[in-house]
Amino acid sequence: MQIEENKVVLIEYTVKTEEGVLVDTSEGNEPLAYLHGHKNIIPGLENALVGKAVEDELSVTVTPEEAYGERHEQLIKEVPMQAFQGVDKVEPGMQFNAESPQGPQLITVTKVEGDTVTVDGNHPLAGVTLNFDVKVVEVREPSEEELSHGHVHGAGGHEH
Ligand code: ZN
Repeated sequence: MQIEENKVVLIEYTVKTEEGVLVDTSEGNEPLAYLHGHKNIIPGLENALVGKAVEDELSVTVTPEEAYGERHEQLIKEVPMQAFQGVDKVEPGMQFNAESPQGPQLITVTKVEGDTVTVDGNHPLAGVTLNFDVKVVEVREPSEEELSHGHVHGAGGHEH
C-alpha cells in the first residue's frame, strides 16, 4: 500500500536543523501517526512521503516556507512589565498565550531589561530549514471515525 490521500501513516523520524542540532525525534517513543492529506504534519514532509510504502527510508530537506514559515521581525515587540500581571518573575524562555487580532498566539520572552520585556511571536522553528530522516513503518486505511475527525486515533495519534 502506497502513501496517498486519506491513508493512515506511521513514521519513525529524526529532525535536525541545517547546523545538525537535534530538534525532535521519535526514537525511544512510539512512531508518529498522521492522516495523509489533512495537514497533520508540515507540508514539506507530507509532500515528500507521497507514493512511499512500508520500509521506505528517506531524507528530506524542508525549507521554512514548507515548514513553520519565515521569521517576521514585526512579531518581535517590547511590552511593559505591567502586561504580565500575576506572573511572579518574568524570565527569558518563558512562553505565554497572548491575544492577537489573528487569534491566540504563542509568544516567547526573549529579553527582560528593567520594566521592558521583549517578546517574540514567531514560531520557535520559523525561518529554520529542517532536515528529516524518516522511515515508513505502517500504512493503513483509516477508520470512518478517523476520517471524519481528520486525524489518527490511538498509538502515536490523538487520545480523546
Ligand atoms: Zn478524533
